[in-house]
Amino acid sequence: MQTKLGVKRGNGKVSDYGVKSLNDVRTPAAAPGANTSPLVKPDIDIKGRVLWLCRMPYGGSRMLAAAFRSIGLDTRVTPDEDARTLELGGKFTSGDECYPQRIVLGDYLKLIEDEKVDPKKTAFLLPTANGPCRFGQYVALLRRILDDQGHEDVAILSLTSADGYSGIGEQARELIRTSWRAVVVQDILLKLLLMTRPYEVNPSETDRVYLESLDLMGEIIARQSITHKERMADLRAGLVRVKEAFLSVPTKKEDRPLIGVVGEIFCRLNTFANNELIRHVEAQGGECWLAGVSEWLWYTNQEAFRRYREEQRRVSKDWLKTFITARIQHADEKALLEGFHEVFARHPEPHVTEVLEYSRPYLPQEGALGEMVLSTGGAIYLYHQGADGIIDISPFTCMNGIVTEAIYPRVSKDHDGIPIRVFYFDGTHSDLDRDVGIFLELAKTYKRRKKIPRP
Ligand code: SF4
Repeated sequence: MQTKLGVKRGNGKVSDYGVKSLNDVRTPAAAPGANTSPLVKPDIDIKGRVLWLCRMPYGGSRMLAAAFRSIGLDTRVTPDEDARTLELGGKFTSGDECYPQRIVLGDYLKLIEDEKVDPKKTAFLLPTANGPCRFGQYVALLRRILDDQGHEDVAILSLTSADGYSGIGEQARELIRTSWRAVVVQDILLKLLLMTRPYEVNPSETDRVYLESLDLMGEIIARQSITHKERMADLRAGLVRVKEAFLSVPTKKEDRPLIGVVGEIFCRLNTFANNELIRHVEAQGGECWLAGVSEWLWYTNQEAFRRYREEQRRVSKDWLKTFITARIQHADEKALLEGFHEVFARHPEPHVTEVLEYSRPYLPQEGALGEMVLSTGGAIYLYHQGADGIIDISPFTCMNGIVTEAIYPRVSKDHDGIPIRVFYFDGTHSDLDRDVGIFLELAKTYKRRKKIPRP
């Protein structure tokens, strides 16, 4: 099917994604690490397998899958989440695990149980990290559940920065650069979607343009055997078309309350996990400004520099590597965002150091780690951008939400009483419309008396 942006929609088969040959793909090794679990096997071979990615968010996973395809790996995004996802995820977890883990597990098991994918030709991507929360345990947990259920043949690809992403062999560097560009593109597309959709005249038009933009940009990201320079030129040309398509969506002039959305990265970005909270806000008259994916990557860079300083390794090979990587990432981000200064003038993204500084009086970076720091600093940044309320999306029992919920009353008190509320999600039913409605009333009241206008 030919779409508005002139892209042919694929039907999910390998050939549609332009994967020519897997011969060049080296056999990857599993990442060690949090990762030191004996359940993570070091001899994973994903050659000839379909690599599946879960949704975080859907558009971001589409872009990342395209990046993997650019190095010849047949990579796809898991099908829509549904009640079966929670049923299967819940069957093999006790409730102590995080809600995002239950969703990811359910989606992967659904492929085996319902879609009957061939275990010998299947690999699941589950990144890992030695971070401050339960995330680092999930590769081992997934491996154990798969093994216990007789699915030993399914491979898990667990990339980690700790080993320089050795899980993808010699093409790691190429993949990392293309993936970073995919992340920036995803953030741009999502921002355009959320800025436009609340004001659209024709229902669903913005969603359609967004999906077509994913098709177009995914096709460019997945191109094989082109240089970084050529890909950048193609991406920039693609983004010009994307911008024009979004700007051509007819919109109404409305003065909606602006709601900043922060919180745990998976639950915040996965619309199934948060019961489409943003659509609920939009349906009740608000516009959302959602923290994107790149924020986390900038934060991990910043954390690496902080650790080098702390360990007095400022003059080291690792420091230099991180420094050069960050410089390249900055240059790529700048190039991709070049045509958007005017469009994003009312929604400027902060530098991560600004967010960390805002967070410092409540959660100093040296003493607290992870998303709680970003959510707190991000909430204050959004207050300074004239937001009318802040929503923090958190999985139930996630320590990030528990900590920020304790801090937000003081943050609000120190910032003109801006309404801030944590919305918890665990897959159970709640009256989201009622809760969002109450919150938006608070935001509208604050909007009438706020001291900081929107740019
Ligand atoms: S941030 Fe919270 S929900 Fe996410 S993996 Fe960590 S503990 Fe789990």
